[in-house]
Amino acid sequence: MKTSKPIMYLMGLLTISTMLLAQPKTTIETTKMSETLYHFKVTTFYPVSTLASIGPDGILLVDPGMEQSYAELMKVLAELSELKVTKVINTHSHDHHTSMNKYLGEAAEIVAHAASAELMRGDLDVLVEWPQNAFPSMSIDSETSFVFNGEEIRLIPIAGGHCKDDLLVYFPDSKVACTGGVLKSGSYPMVDFARGGDFRGFPALARKALSFFPDDVSFVQSHGDNFDYTQASEYVERLDRSIPLIKKAVSSGKTPTEMIDENILSVVADDDHAYPNRGFWIRTIHRGLTMENNGVKKSLIAPLFHVLQEGRGSDAVKLYRDLKKSNPDDYGFNENALNILGYYLLGKDRLDDAIKIFKLNVKEYPKAFNVYDSLGEAYMNKGDLRRAKRNYKKSIRINPENQNGIDMLEKLSSP
Ligand SMILES: [Zn+2]
Ligand SMILES: [Zn+2]
Repeated sequence: MKTSKPIMYLMGLLTISTMLLAQPKTTIETTKMSETLYHFKVTTFYPVSTLASIGPDGILLVDPGMEQSYAELMKVLAELSELKVTKVINTHSHDHHTSMNKYLGEAAEIVAHAASAELMRGDLDVLVEWPQNAFPSMSIDSETSFVFNGEEIRLIPIAGGHCKDDLLVYFPDSKVACTGGVLKSGSYPMVDFARGGDFRGFPALARKALSFFPDDVSFVQSHGDNFDYTQASEYVERLDRSIPLIKKAVSSGKTPTEMIDENILSVVADDDHAYPNRGFWIRTIHRGLTMENNGVKKSLIAPLFHVLQEGRGSDAVKLYRDLKKSNPDDYGFNENALNILGYYLLGKDRLDDAIKIFKLNVKEYPKAFNVYDSLGEAYMNKGDLRRAKRNYKKSIRINPENQNGIDMLEKLSSP
């Protein structure tokens, strides 16, 4: 279904491309943080932070955000300055922070961690379809700084916790820092194992990150409200204290569900409303400790995508079956991968190919409600309302709470 992206976000699967879905309305909240710095809370699919330095040198953006927010962000910037965006800094390469590079890269220099380009060129990002000008033109592999709008900007690589290309961005004159997925408040870390993140070194990296800042710093939170030094210290302490408790429970053979039911992290922190929550953190560490290669498998999407570049949906279905036969354990076979690929094709208006992929997903995962919902949508786009209805009905039969399916069926049934 169309809304699968926000749902995936709630599940903590932030890493999946946002390129695939119809665009909701964008809203932007602006806060002036210092003489030169503005914080924008940009909500398109979900809230994502962008920081701007605006002054005589032009506009510098830290984490411009997703390409779907481009037009709205440019409108807001135009009200603040006549000058163009001439510099962009990425705290890491997750595409919901960086896909706006596609538009900005033509006129702006793009600065990122030295490991970003390789990740962007890799299998994980094939559906983002990065153009050449979206790649970093300045790669950072050691601490460095430059001056923009009369203010020093310090760049500190501190990778390997959230991803392998984490970069801290600090404005010491304004005492404002963007720390991407490294520091935050009120939740637990999101570790992207597939992009080189790991929970094992996370507490030490987070503590080291904290050591670069004075205690009156303001942190820009990537997703959510900004936070202060005390909140960041609490976060680091939470990591330090939670990991040994989870490790102990894993070694005694407990499952994540048992750990969550027993609330083994209640001694660390009471609040559990921010995402990723403690259940997510427990599952992350359990996965890392019990699965080979932290549960990371080869991308299934990449080989199918490459076949679809030249061939048709039926060629991708054939390759899928071949891979499943010859390498059943090597690739990440799951319902989500085919769903994402199907939506990619829908977005390209390749309806027949999308239907082939969604039909394959229905065959592979006949008990999953979302596969029927997606197939229903593809038939609807094609104008085959009879099949669209049939699939939405099946989806609702499996999951009576599938509100998207209920709404679509109602829409299809009304004259
Ligand atoms: Zn991220
Ligand atoms: Zn993010």
